[in-house]
Amino acid sequence: MSAVNPTADPVVVVGGGVVGLCTAYYLAAAGLPVEVVERRRIGSGVSRGNAGWVCLSHSTPVPAPGVVRYALRSLGRPDSPLYLRPLPDPAFVRWLWRFWRSSTRAAFRRGYAAIAELNRDTFGLFDGLREAGVDTTLTRPGMVHAFLSPAEARHHLAIQREMADGLYPVPDDITTGAEAHLLDEALSPAVRAAYLVQGRASWTRRRSRVPSVRHWPRLV
Ligand SMILES: Cc1cc2nc3c(=O)[nH]c(=O)nc-3n(C[C@H](O)[C@H](O)[C@H](O)COP(=O)(O)OP(=O)(O)OC[C@H]3O[C@@H](n4cnc5c(N)ncnc54)[C@H](O)[C@@H]3O)c2cc1C
Repeated sequence: MSAVNPTADPVVVVGGGVVGLCTAYYLAAAGLPVEVVERRRIGSGVSRGNAGWVCLSHSTPVPAPGVVRYALRSLGRPDSPLYLRPLPDPAFVRWLWRFWRSSTRAAFRRGYAAIAELNRDTFGLFDGLREAGVDTTLTRPGMVHAFLSPAEARHHLAIQREMADGLYPVPDDITTGAEAHLLDEALSPAVRAAYLVQGRASWTRRRSRVPSVRHWPRLV
């Protein structure tokens, strides 16, 4: 990076979602003048409507072996966790073909490794934001992974163990039946198996506020 010149024209960040705001924050923290341009309200995009998880154990890429079969089974079920809306368009078929070709074990491992590497400093960075005055509301309750069948739970736990690769603790086995419901009382009665990934999994509550932050960009 070239030397910082605080008298230069401002860096303009387009979009006041979590990505734009973090970019702007760290640019400002580095001493650069920054302006954020937002067409609606700050934090009104997808950053407002997500689940709030900050969670390495949940960072698996979507393209994975078997995912196209899973998606095809969900055709006609828009409430499926992964739903493809079929379009009578050769472009859709081409996309599906390419997606299927990318859903290999090797591509999945590469994708996960890239995400894990990106996430390595995440919790430290959240601590830094808190020290700077941002109320991130970050807590670390762990994450319960819940399944409709023990077989599915074991399959996912095996993937999880392989992916964790020492980065975060993974339980030895799944929990089934009534015991699974002790992990989280909010689980649906349909859940038959679950496991808890402790420690690294974290989440933020929606109600976050930004009081006296040391370095803050200008919002336009
Ligand atoms: C249902 C759901 C659940 C999710 N759950 C999680 C989760 O648990 N954990 C997690 O890490 N991620 C989750 N995500 C993903 C996460 O929310 C996004 O990756 C992240 O919020 C993207 O942030 P962003 O700043 O790129 O986009 P946005 O928050 O959408 O910000 C983009 C901003 O740019 C503005 N903009 C766009 N164009 C212009 C323009 N031309 N001029 C000015 N402003 C413009 C928009 O108005 C918007 O405010 C979830 C996503 C969804 C949809």
